Amino acid sequence: MPSQIVNALVLILLAAGLAIPVGYFVAHWAGWAIFCAGLGLQMLFNFRNFARLDRWSRRPVVDANLEGAGAWDGIFGRLYRHEKELRTLISERDDQIERLFAALQALTDGVVALDLNQHIVYCNTTAEEQLGLVLATDSGQPVVNIVRQPEFVAYLNSGDFERPLILRSERGTERVLSIHVVSYAGNRRLMQIKDVTQSDRLDQMRRDFVANVSHELRTPLTVLAGFLETLQEIDLERDEQHRYLDLMAEQSKRMESIVQDLLTLSSIESAPPPSNDLVDMSTLMDKLRRDAEALSAGRHTIIAESDGLCDLRGSEPELVSAFGNLVANAVRYTPAGGTVRIEWKVTPQGAEYAVEDTGIGIEAKHIPRLTERFYRVDRGRSRDAGGTGLGLAIVKHSLNRHQAQLDIRSTPGVGSRFAAKFPTGRIVRL
Ligand code: ADP
Repeated sequence: MPSQIVNALVLILLAAGLAIPVGYFVAHWAGWAIFCAGLGLQMLFNFRNFARLDRWSRRPVVDANLEGAGAWDGIFGRLYRHEKELRTLISERDDQIERLFAALQALTDGVVALDLNQHIVYCNTTAEEQLGLVLATDSGQPVVNIVRQPEFVAYLNSGDFERPLILRSERGTERVLSIHVVSYAGNRRLMQIKDVTQSDRLDQMRRDFVANVSHELRTPLTVLAGFLETLQEIDLERDEQHRYLDLMAEQSKRMESIVQDLLTLSSIESAPPPSNDLVDMSTLMDKLRRDAEALSAGRHTIIAESDGLCDLRGSEPELVSAFGNLVANAVRYTPAGGTVRIEWKVTPQGAEYAVEDTGIGIEAKHIPRLTERFYRVDRGRSRDAGGTGLGLAIVKHSLNRHQAQLDIRSTPGVGSRFAAKFPTGRIVRL
């Protein structure tokens, strides 16, 4: 039997034990008065504790002063312990939830939790930034009220989430998001959002590159096939035959140059960091001058100038190819009678290799795109000059591998200057 009931019975028996002799020996009413007074006192005592319990139950806090007298002390003690344990449990759960939210916040992917009606329950800062959400104000809102792109609304309503949705941003900057929806806790949905802008751009570049290569090779191939057909079908004079064969040789040489440049580009792209050969710059400058003279065949004035103060460290074949490309371009795009100047000198930041010409020059709008593969200012002119449109892409890549920057300055009709700027770490002072 619970102790409170035993205590109450003991008190009633005590009151009765005092009231019965008094009622018997003194007067009945006196006995009843003592018994009622005893019961009343007990009720008063219980009401007091009930009132405390009632007050506490309206605002249950962990209160060390919550104590009652007699049997009530045990009740209040147990309530105190229970409340304390509950508070500890709640604070542990709060900590766990906080750590979980911190982990969600730390994710580089966006996360949005939706309720059964696709209203926003939670989103991390990455998702806020990706979708333009603001959790503080958008929480509880239908997600489609905020992300209104029709393809997103259709995807969410379709209920078919086997494949992620690729969403191209309509907000200012070009951004591509991959949205994956998974179900959790019944029909609730969790959106995982990945920024795939970079890989999408790479994909696009790869597609463009394949299309460009096919186009570049198809042109000479078509010409070759046409000549072959003519030679097969028409009995040409010997001179005419020779002219056709020369033109065919020219086209096959062009294809060979494109394939060669493509191979060079792909080999430097996949190559390990360049070796650290010591490149003797005075010998290299002599070679570059001789190559320029051979290419120019006397049509230009070629000047090679070196301060003779330093050599270079790096992969000799790559540097020779990059420097040679700049020289070949200068000769190619400078009309007869012009000047090509090749320079090598120490600068406060390191050293600089530059090729300057008095050629046709380049309009400013083309300069940032010159190092893109197959980019040409004038396609016909480049082809006539035997260019592949890959030269500057190879130059830029080789220079990057040597921590060098390519600086291009040009004025249409006046000339151009292509400078490769090497950091001090790459040069060896003589
Ligand atoms: P290409 O094989 O066509 O020369 P490059 O990648 O070497 O290809 O150069 C890209 C384009 O940059 C050229 O087609 C040409 O229009 C322009 N260019 C490069 N060098 C010069 C230069 N020295 N003067 C004028 N234009 C140049």
